[in-house]
Amino acid sequence: MTGLPPRIVLGTGNAHKVAELTAILGPLLPGVELVRYDGPSPVEDGDTFLANALIKARAAHAHTGLPAIADDSGIAVTALGGEPGIHSARYAGTGRDADNRDLLLQRLGGADDRSAAFVCAAVYVTDDGELQTQEEWPGAVTAGVRGEGGFGYDPLFVPDGADGRTAAELTAEEKNAVSHRGTAFTRLAAAIRGEEPSGR
Ligand code: IMP
Repeated sequence: MTGLPPRIVLGTGNAHKVAELTAILGPLLPGVELVRYDGPSPVEDGDTFLANALIKARAAHAHTGLPAIADDSGIAVTALGGEPGIHSARYAGTGRDADNRDLLLQRLGGADDRSAAFVCAAVYVTDDGELQTQEEWPGAVTAGVRGEGGFGYDPLFVPDGADGRTAAELTAEEKNAVSHRGTAFTRLAAAIRGEEPSGR
């Protein structure tokens, strides 16, 4: 896989993720137009972050014919055996971030071990092959929500090394520089540029 294509489709319908991906990838893939995928959503029935990221990217590639990037991500909480993990987006079953956060805090209760990690699998699918990587962002779950930025579980996640601020209290630049999505896509972009071997 050599050379950057003129256009890459982003296989996600999540507007927050499109914004983060555009901010992260824009400078790393110069001259590449990043297009939002608006075709049919595939069923994400994989057992792993990687499997679900591949389902999304393969669907976007098949539907548009363009090289496709997608990710699958979530938060894995140690005391909950890694849950909600790949079920993070639909944890409470309502599709609302606030309900997912409430359920997570309720399930965790007053547990002493509040360690958790955001996980992001990022993939690139073309006619010539597939590249993939997976990264983690370690931290801990707070007792209550704090902060207005970010999305999803950001207001209850304190990343290691962030001075006690939640991910929702970081600027977008601070978050993208160290987050699971930031590091995964920085590595994926290097592989797309041909500077790093694929994680395959
Ligand atoms: P996906 O769109 O299937 O990858 O689901 C990802 C879900 O995990 C989101 O809906 C959020 O609930 C959660 N998540 C993933 N990344 C983040 C993040 O950076 N901050 C907060 N929540 C996140």
